[in-house]
Formats: sequence, C-alpha cells, structure tokens
Amino acid sequence: MPKMADNRTHLVLENYIGGMFVPCSRHIDSYDPSTGEVYCRVPDSDKEEVEAAVKAAKEAFPEWSSKSPAERAKVLHKLADLIEAHLEEFALAESKDQGKTITFARTVDIPRSAHNFRFFASSVLHHTTDCSQMDHMGCVNYTVRSPVGVAGLISPWNLPLYLLTWKIAPAIATGNTVVAKPSEMTSVTAWMMCKLLEEAGMPPGVVNIVFGTGPRAGDALVSHPDVPLISFTGSTGTARVITEHSAPYCKKLSLELGGKNPAIIFQDANLEECIATTVRSSFSNQGEICLCTSRIFVERSIYPEFLQKFVEAAQRWRTGVPTDTSSDNGALISKEHLEKVRGYVKLAQAEGGKVHCGEGVDTLELPERNQNGYFMPPTVITDVTDTSRCMQEEIFGPVTCVVPFDSEEEVIRRANGVKYGLSATVWSRDVGRVHRVARSLQAGLVWTNCWLIRDLNLPFGGMKSSGVGREGGQDSYHFFTEVKTITIKH
Ligand code: NAD
Repeated sequence: MPKMADNRTHLVLENYIGGMFVPCSRHIDSYDPSTGEVYCRVPDSDKEEVEAAVKAAKEAFPEWSSKSPAERAKVLHKLADLIEAHLEEFALAESKDQGKTITFARTVDIPRSAHNFRFFASSVLHHTTDCSQMDHMGCVNYTVRSPVGVAGLISPWNLPLYLLTWKIAPAIATGNTVVAKPSEMTSVTAWMMCKLLEEAGMPPGVVNIVFGTGPRAGDALVSHPDVPLISFTGSTGTARVITEHSAPYCKKLSLELGGKNPAIIFQDANLEECIATTVRSSFSNQGEICLCTSRIFVERSIYPEFLQKFVEAAQRWRTGVPTDTSSDNGALISKEHLEKVRGYVKLAQAEGGKVHCGEGVDTLELPERNQNGYFMPPTVITDVTDTSRCMQEEIFGPVTCVVPFDSEEEVIRRANGVKYGLSATVWSRDVGRVHRVARSLQAGLVWTNCWLIRDLNLPFGGMKSSGVGREGGQDSYHFFTEVKTITIKH
C-alpha cells in the first residue's frame, strides 16, 4: 500500500473485470470528507480498462442470459445475504467515503442496497408479457422480452452503493451483463461488494466495475459501440453530454437527474408532523438527496408560525462527526461542493434574502481533527423571489428557501415554475385538495403528508429536466429488456 506523507497507508482500489481484481497504473485521490484528508486511491481508468470490461461482459452474456430467472434470482438473494452479513463494515465504509452519518448508512444506504437485490430477484419471477387476438385476421399476437446485452451503468456520489445496486440488480436479474462506473468520489463500497460476488455465485464477467472519472471512464462506456444501453443517475449537465455522445449509437437511455423539489404546506396541515418531516426532507444526508425539498411554499396565514418552528427545528438538527450516532448530518462530499453550496447562500444574501439559521449564523463545534472537514449546518433562507437562482437551481446541500403563498392555483403555478420536475410534497388534511394539487404538479413523484416512502414496484423518475424514462418494478423490466411482437397466423 502506498504511504501518505505521515506514513499512514492509503486504501488502494482495483478494477473488477471478468471476475478478477485488476490493478490500474493511474490513480485519483479520494478524500475523507469529515477530515479533508486523502485516504484512498481510486483507479483512473480509461478506454483500455473499459474495453477489457466490455469484452468480459460480452463473453459472459450468452450463458448468463440463458439461465432461468429463478437461477439468476438465487445469486441475487445470496449477494443480498452477504451484504447484510457485512452491513456494519459497509456502513462504516460508506460513511467515511461519502461523509454521511453512520446512522444514515446503517439504516438507509446499506439495507436498501441489499433490498435492491432481493426486490429484483423476486420481481423478475413474476412478469408476464402481452397477448392479443385478431380473430377476423386469423391471428394471435404476443410479445417476448429479451435482455439487451451489456448494460453500462453510471452512478453518483450521494447514495453510492444504494444507487449503484438500484441499477445492477434489475440489469442482471433480467439477464444482462454489466459494466458499472461508480462516482470517482465514492468508489469504496462498490469495490467491497466485488469481493462478495464470487461467494454469491456470480459467474465471472456478469458484473464488472471500472473506477474512474466521468470524462474518461464514463465517456468510454457511453461511447462504446458494444454497450447498447446506459442507465445514468447524476446531474442534468452530465446527462446532456451523455445524450450527445451516445446518440450516434442509438442507445437505450435512462436518465435520473436533479431536482428543485417543492413542499406545499396548506393552513390545514398537521403542522407538528409536517415540520418534523420537512426538516428531514430538506436536510437528510446533508441535503444531498435528489428528492430533498429545497423550496417550501407556506400558506400565508400560517407562514410566521411555520417559519419560527421550522427554524427552531432546523437548529436542533445536529451537524457533527459522521461516526457520532447523535449527529443528524455529517460532512458534504467535497471542498468544491461545500464552496458551491456556500456560494448559493451568499448569492441569496446579495439578492436581498435573509438567512435565519445555519451558514454564517450558527457555528459548529467540531473536534480538532475535523476542523478541515466539509461541514455546513442546516440553512434556512427567506425573502427570495421565485426567479432568484436559489429558487431555480439545484443546490444539493443543506439549504432550503421558505416563501409564502395565497392560493392553490398560485402555488401550483409557482411550484411548477422551474426547469426540474422530480418530486414534491403536499401537506393538507383536505383529501380533495391533496388529489387536485398532486395531479397538477409537474413531478414524477408526489408525496402527500409524508416523504420518501417508496414502493419499488412503482415508477421512479422525473419530468422535464429531471430525467428521461422511469425505473422500478415493471419499468426497470421494460428498460433492461428489448420487446418483440410476434404475430402467428393460424
Ligand atoms: P455528476 O453528473 O457529476 O456525476 C454522476 C456520474 O456521472 C459520476 O459517476 C460521474 O463520474 C459520471 N460522469 C461525469 N461526467 C461524465 C461523462 N461526460 N460521461 C459519462 N459519465 C460521466 O453528478 P454527481 O455530482 O455525482 O451527483 C449529483 C447529481 O445527481 C445531482 O444533480 C442529483 O440531483 C443527481 N441525482 C439524481 C438522482 C435521481 O434518481 N434522479 C439520484 C441521486 C442523484
């Protein structure tokens, strides 16, 4: 292991290709966000590593795709068992690599990663295809579905193993083989999972993981002619590049992108429940969840009461060392990202916004060794216009804006007045209103009187600049397979 300046050793990752760990001669430094120190070196893969991984995936495809869904499901279940058996190690690694709290990693990231494998192992056993009769033509029509081939999977840094397995599981359950590229900033848990694949019974070449940056390893995958499908989760800007670079090959694309998610709070909301959930929906995982609330519209009659209680609750949301189980938030992913998020707070102030808590208002007490970590307390901003950058652009940090509204029609128009359309929450006890508003919002997911409850059978994805396509039960099955219509004249 290479030594750091002070003689401690770095963790050095290797690519996983064709069932083997393959060292890479070039590396990228990966930081512990809670200390700001380099602790890990990630392969800086390029075209040649991607080429080798695609070759391995192509070779494994005929045998894997011809197995029965039940045979494939067995491997997925075993992998889920193994992840669960190592839950604590995975949670500690995810927390160190990403900056999230150990509690979040233990209760959300890693259990959900195991569940992704279990869910798709089970759901792949229950799909049916369509059939129609045309008696007047003496015909019957039916459809068959087949895996697409080598799937290219690219994931972000905010929920590293959770989002990577959300792609790997349906891809391999349906008979594809994969080349996956996790974010270069959070590669450790993907590498740890590779160590379990053989024991799970995964044949070599079915899952290949190539580590590296987007413009090198990611782009090599996107523009590889033998990878007919790309499932991407990340920012809208990167999606634009991926769309362009994959276009010459007419690839199947699924794009899960950013959001600028509104919470709409009517005067008849259960305020206590609403405030507790909206603090969670705004600040969980340091606000680094694509589904986090970042615009809060509050009916004017309850605006002062809401704001006071919301700010108090945000100040109770504890930012601290990720390994401390009393921390609600840990550190942001990187110094650059921290600066970007802070920049939005400054921008809001320059535009006349008022900061009620958090950045520049509350100070954090952190141990000596975490002084250079990328920490930022939950920040609540008011007095910003709907057209301000803080109300229009995805910040992806612990920052939320609160603004008043007067009518249902007005708030729907304002909530829809951004380029994104990922998710929304609506708070009211009026069932009719809840339905009306939910139907009118331009968002792929609307939670009413709750947040982040997910049935994996149902579609997940965004409208407008928040994405193209949907994933989840039937939608993932459709995306990761090609359909063919067969007509039989009898
Ligand atoms: P990003 O777009 O910078 O990177 C995502 C992945 O794409 C990384 O693995 C990166 O290396 C890779 N990449 C970058 N450039 C590439 C290129 N030219 N070709 C191929 N791959 C490339 O996003 P991020 O900063 O890692 O993640 C944060 C973003 O992800 C936010 O916008 C967030 O909203 C979004 N996100 C969306 C969802 C969702 O389900 N809709 C979930 C989580 C995160």
